[in-house]
Amino acid sequence: MIFTFVTLFQNLIEGYFQDSILKRAIDRDLIRLSYLNPRDYSQNKHNKVDDTAVGGGAGMVMNPQPLYDVLDDLKKSDEKVHIVFLTPVAKPFKQNDAKRLAKKSHIAFVSGRYEGIDERVIENYADEVFSIGDYILTGGELASLVMCDAISRNINGVLGNSDSLSIESFETPLLEAPSFSKPKVYEEISVPSEYLKGNHSKIRSLKLALSECKTKFFRPDQLIKHKTQSH
Ligand code: SAM
Repeated sequence: MIFTFVTLFQNLIEGYFQDSILKRAIDRDLIRLSYLNPRDYSQNKHNKVDDTAVGGGAGMVMNPQPLYDVLDDLKKSDEKVHIVFLTPVAKPFKQNDAKRLAKKSHIAFVSGRYEGIDERVIENYADEVFSIGDYILTGGELASLVMCDAISRNINGVLGNSDSLSIESFETPLLEAPSFSKPKVYEEISVPSEYLKGNHSKIRSLKLALSECKTKFFRPDQLIKHKTQSH
């Protein structure tokens, strides 16, 4: 899988891939990264990429010209590239999207800055548009990293143990049951005693009950989904 980041701030992104699972995925050629900076395509003599909003409004908006040119170039270099824009005014990114997008061969994330991107660019080039949540970030770089990380975990071979994918939260509507590490007792607090007795069917039932409790507390919307699906 190739991930292309279309961003004014490549250095904000690079560090994330310098360690751990995604670094190993790069070393094993399971993912490749590339970067395109709209500023390098600006025809403005000062390499400007933004201007005031037509019709008024606070702040600057990213101009169409550099982004049209960068995305035309990208599409010429790979007609299969799947272009994703990050914006708070879009459908929320979900685990199912991460699994679906992991099957693409090349995804480009386009990060906005300032007050966002001229809407004509999005209309013209977006294959998909995603928000990562109901809050406003200063730019799309973090959002594109969030998506890239979640997608990468679903690419064959990226995780050492692919079993861990199938038991995680959001694979079913229920959130994952609480996990515990060793020691069994720490600062006088023990892990649930059933976890220690080795009866796997009892442990499974307890984990299901704890999953339901957790889901009821943190995500009642997901619990309703679970109940509807299991009837
Ligand atoms: N004026 C825009 C609005 O009110 O919808 C917000 C622009 S934001 C300051 C600048 C850029 O950050 C956006 O163009 C987008 O790329 C990114 N961004 C901010 N919040 C985001 C979110 N929740 N999800 C995805 N991208 C986001």
